[in-house]
Amino acid sequence: MKWTAIRKDPGSPKQSPHLSDYQATLADFSWDNIRRELPSLPGKKGFNIAHAAVDCHAEGQLAKHVALRWLSQSDRVERFTYGELKTLTSRFANVLHMLGLGRGDTVCTLTGRIPELYIAALGALKNTSVFCPLYSAFGPEPIYQRMSRGDAKILITTRRLYREKVAKLLNRLPLLRYVLLVDLEEHEDSRLLSLPRLMAKVQDTFTIPSTDLEDIALLHFTSGTTGMPKGALHVHGAALTHYLTGKYVLDFHADDVFWCTADPGWVTGTSYGILAPLLHGITNIVDEADFDATRWCNILESQKVSVLYTAPTAIRRLMRLGAEPVKSYNLSHLRLVQSVGEPLNPEAIVWGQEALGMPIHDNWWQTETGGIMIANFPAMEIRPGSMGRPLPGIEAAIVRRSEDGGAEEIETPGTQGELALRPGWPSMFRGYLHDEERYRSCFASDWYLTGDLAKRDGDGYFWFVGRADDIIKTAGHMVGPFEVESVLMAHPAVAEAGVIGKPDPVVGELVKGFVSLKSGFEASDALRLELIAFTRKMLGSAVAPREIEFNQHLPKNRAGKIMRRLLKARELGLPDGDLSTMEE
Ligand code: AMP
Repeated sequence: MKWTAIRKDPGSPKQSPHLSDYQATLADFSWDNIRRELPSLPGKKGFNIAHAAVDCHAEGQLAKHVALRWLSQSDRVERFTYGELKTLTSRFANVLHMLGLGRGDTVCTLTGRIPELYIAALGALKNTSVFCPLYSAFGPEPIYQRMSRGDAKILITTRRLYREKVAKLLNRLPLLRYVLLVDLEEHEDSRLLSLPRLMAKVQDTFTIPSTDLEDIALLHFTSGTTGMPKGALHVHGAALTHYLTGKYVLDFHADDVFWCTADPGWVTGTSYGILAPLLHGITNIVDEADFDATRWCNILESQKVSVLYTAPTAIRRLMRLGAEPVKSYNLSHLRLVQSVGEPLNPEAIVWGQEALGMPIHDNWWQTETGGIMIANFPAMEIRPGSMGRPLPGIEAAIVRRSEDGGAEEIETPGTQGELALRPGWPSMFRGYLHDEERYRSCFASDWYLTGDLAKRDGDGYFWFVGRADDIIKTAGHMVGPFEVESVLMAHPAVAEAGVIGKPDPVVGELVKGFVSLKSGFEASDALRLELIAFTRKMLGSAVAPREIEFNQHLPKNRAGKIMRRLLKARELGLPDGDLSTMEE
């Protein structure tokens, strides 16, 4: 099928976009001007994200404006105005301060999407601590890996998650000083404390200490192919990108009601599920429940959502409802739908046009970039299948790695290479925690190499081709094969394991493991189910393999490393390709 460009009316009757002339905006752009649009801390004390996102609105005309509208699993609605959010986040910052946590200390959350998560995130930023969200569907192993690598000093969680996933890890986490439970009435011992009790004990006001644009604010883990997850560090200045992309890509206007469906356990859920909408002083919807197509349509209608930011897996799941049922909802407030995280198939864009009355705009970024880098801006012609064009202030290119370790730009349109960005934008990660070498290896010839393969067309639109490495994208979440292989190999029956992403029409890729067994063990359906249950328990449902195949002859290279590339080619029925490095 041939997809033609979708031209948009730049002066849509509902709202005129902030970025209506791409070239003119590029020509005039400067990060200094963006910095001037954001407030400084009083008394020349620098810039703090939480101050810009909460306190400055609370102290002005938006004090009574709803900042967060939280929908509980059981359909209870709780509203938090900017004024209330200021008080609650100040209280949380006071709790941290009282417990002796300060600048640079890592504050982890493991909660699911409940108000305490948002209060803890912003309170930690006020206290100049480092906020590190963990995805609540992780099992104990990914939680342990991230907390120990992140030097977590304190964890905010619930009684259930503590009991099921954290309690057993405590003696392996010597740096962890406190666990605060959001639903515990009384302190249990000197380490396991009741958050409501602590919140009741402290004051409503908190003076944010001086904060520099370069102070570390956020720690987000992302998966590696050859090792355990990497902790990408982001600074308070990253807010400039969050703010800019809120303005130009998500096109926030004063009365918007915004819903980012991502969980803050992943970078999108923090940068856009918490920070960008609050920096713009708009109302942010948070839904506690997991995906459900009918529930989502109800939320779009009842909450009068005007801007939706979601992911292709969710859109494909919505598409299963068919266009007609979706059209029966009153979505007249919806103005813009943006999508991120995986390739957005052109069918989804066209479905959006039919079911929602507007196309779905794709955009691209990753944990390391901290914010959206390439986008189909609202006023721009959409080329279905393309990620769009770089943000003002962002220089993107297609490069080829050279043998001397450098990178050369490929100028010819339509040529595939690695997507690269010129370092220097405010939300660029400032390092992988405790892993300087891995950080340095991401850069060559003054380019940041993203690990994605892409093409650029003659008009500067970028087209995603695939990952340059073995990282798996399942339901929009990054999964590192190494992390899964390590857990498979912890099972007494498994001798070796190789893990790949197997293409799937709904979740993009599903995690598939290949295992060879130790002598004395027989392949059987019962063992397959046992391995699936074992990995689910250790890794959690978001990461564990959905399929397992027994193979006593896993392909290996001469160094004895399992060749995932070959496992994947064979799974897909593709040619083996270059076998020169394969073991005899
Ligand atoms: P994460 O760091 O978990 O946010 O994942 C980032 C990765 O997701 C990118 O490096 C891409 O491989 C993939 N990704 C993000 N956005 C898109 C998109 N619009 N199209 C295709 N792949 C995407």
